[in-house]
Amino acid sequence: AAKEHSETSAWYSDAQEASRLGHLSLLSDLRSAIQNNELQMWLQPKIHLHDLRCYGFEALVRWQHPQRGFISPIEFIPFAERAGYISHVTNWMLQQAAQTLASWQSRYPHLSIAVNVSTNDLRDQQFPERVRHLIQQYQLRPENLQLELTESGIMENPDNAIPLLQTLRATGIGLSIDDFGTGHSSLAYLQKLPVSELKIDRSFVIDIDQQDSTQKLVRTIVEMGHGLDLHVIAEGIETQAERDTLIKLGCDSIQGYFASKPLHGNALEQWLQSLPT
Ligand code: C2E
Ligand code: CA
Ligand code: CA
Ligand code: CA
Repeated sequence: AAKEHSETSAWYSDAQEASRLGHLSLLSDLRSAIQNNELQMWLQPKIHLHDLRCYGFEALVRWQHPQRGFISPIEFIPFAERAGYISHVTNWMLQQAAQTLASWQSRYPHLSIAVNVSTNDLRDQQFPERVRHLIQQYQLRPENLQLELTESGIMENPDNAIPLLQTLRATGIGLSIDDFGTGHSSLAYLQKLPVSELKIDRSFVIDIDQQDSTQKLVRTIVEMGHGLDLHVIAEGIETQAERDTLIKLGCDSIQGYFASKPLHGNALEQWLQSLPT
């Protein structure tokens, strides 16, 4: 048994070493990914429930690695965060979003883009200034740019995050609490947060049309959000039954495969061309 044990730990340290080396090369790969145009911004439509019209998009990063193929953001975002590299990804996405919004200014002046921001970005006191600079550089309407922040990211250090969010909000951009309901923000804090939107996590939406208790919970979240003058959106809507239930519960908007998967290239162009002008 002792031998078995030592073999097991030897195997573990080999595996750890392999994983460490894999991660080291992944980090240098991520560094070159931006320069080599391997990252892409995909846009997933958001739909108002009152008129079923598209009013904007969430920006989702995609990495097409030359050897490893497609790497999911679920894999490389946490890795980039641990490696201290996430701010480069965030800046790249913000830049893409700003460029795209600028190119839409004359034809689609009301469409918005929401960029995901990580906990690490909220530690950077220079972050609001960079966003403000981008808005100025591209002459954007600030309300067309939104940031999505997670509850856990804000709550990790609220005394630091809240003033930073206030500075961001003062520029006129939208702030959304992502994955709402999965974190630990107390109601007392929610009232203090200078945000404009709650984004109800997909875990509350799955089979919502068949779950009475979930419907009650979501109705409460919607009413609470409206009580605080927040826009309430639900993510991950896949079926018409889920959409109809969210309309019934008073939710403002939805995002999910039911309306559209994330889009890029020609598919995005076609989506834009189908919009009423
Ligand atoms: P998220 O912010 O909660 O983004 C929503 C995820 O759900 C996206 O996955 C989206 O493609 C997926 N999704 C949308 N509609 C549906 C649906 O109807 N059904 C199902 N099953 N899934 C749906 P994705 O693009 O793989 O992103 C996963 C996570 O990676 C995101 O979760 C976000 O936390 C992170 N992420 C993605 N892009 C970025 C980025 O640019 N920056 C940062 N910091 N994080 C990002
Ligand atoms: Ca998000
Ligand atoms: Ca989310
Ligand atoms: Ca989610």
